Amino acid sequence: MLYDIIVVGGGPAGLTAAIYGARAGKRVLLVERESIGGQIVYSPQVENYPALPHVSGAELANKMYEQVEALGVEIISEEATGAARQDDGTFLLTTDYGSHRGRTLILATGVQHRRLGLPGEEELVGAGVSYCAVCDGAFYKERDVAVVGGGDTALQDALFLSNTCRSVTVVVRRDRWRGEAALARQLESRHNVTVLFEHRPVGYAVEDGELRGLIVEGKEGRRTLSVEGVFLAVGQEPCSAAFAGLAGVDGAGYFPVGERCRTDIPGLYVAGDCRAKEVRQLTTAVGDGAVAALAACADLDAQDAQT
Ligand code: NAP
Repeated sequence: MLYDIIVVGGGPAGLTAAIYGARAGKRVLLVERESIGGQIVYSPQVENYPALPHVSGAELANKMYEQVEALGVEIISEEATGAARQDDGTFLLTTDYGSHRGRTLILATGVQHRRLGLPGEEELVGAGVSYCAVCDGAFYKERDVAVVGGGDTALQDALFLSNTCRSVTVVVRRDRWRGEAALARQLESRHNVTVLFEHRPVGYAVEDGELRGLIVEGKEGRRTLSVEGVFLAVGQEPCSAAFAGLAGVDGAGYFPVGERCRTDIPGLYVAGDCRAKEVRQLTTAVGDGAVAALAACADLDAQDAQT
């Protein structure tokens, strides 16, 4: 089967690209390795998406998925491992299950959680250390937890956890928030939240394999926060390795592609958070998805007009 458009990544950028491609009458394949929705499924509450003032990320992702499916997009759960441009100008996408051919390829591979890299961290993931407050928050009802990070994810996670946890201590390495002021104001009004600015996590306190605390360091030295759960929200890194050879990446691993979402390779486009850009928001990812798909459709139509 030769698809008109193959979209790699089922986050908001990829889903939007699939919607635009399918609505233009193109045969679209969407390849996603994990859950449809990308990073947005980790957002407990989205409050900055026009027309939907209060919606959970999971609900929004589900609505997008239903829309894409109803448009006839073929959606498969496979991990893309690379792609090559063939002599005839088509792309051969390889995955852990096989390969797929497309006349155009849209990379909307998104980002993944950054690790702190502290000793023992990998073993504690799922056993005290979490990257997802929405998924794991319920395990810590009426317990003391810490959130590490000062961006929007940390703010949202801390707000979400403060609804059910006994206490939430937020560890921020700078002297101020990186995230939205409106979220910070909401958080600072919560009675069970403490914010430790200018503190860095330096280790986990573990007893008999169980997480007992987070060791932090500030101007006054080190101390151990007695917590049973630590939620890491220290940013993200691009999922670009599989396509670095094809599309090229910058020093931080992002695809260096401008606002038009076109690469230098005809038929290859990049959309969403994996693209080098200033603002990574749900709305900008959705915008990229539309731009990339419309570019692909225009190029396909131009090709077809010539034959
Ligand atoms: P982010 O904005 O990159 O923030 C990461 C936070 O972790 C920063 O406070 C950073 O500190 C801190 N950090 C990084 N490495 C650390 C380390 N080793 N030790 C301690 N702290 C460390 O990441 P994000 O919050 O996940 O957001 C990513 C993007 O998604 C942003 O563009 C954000 O606006 C967007 N987003 C938006 C929403 C929304 O609802 N609007 C929700 C979630 C995410 P420094 O500030 O010192 O670097």
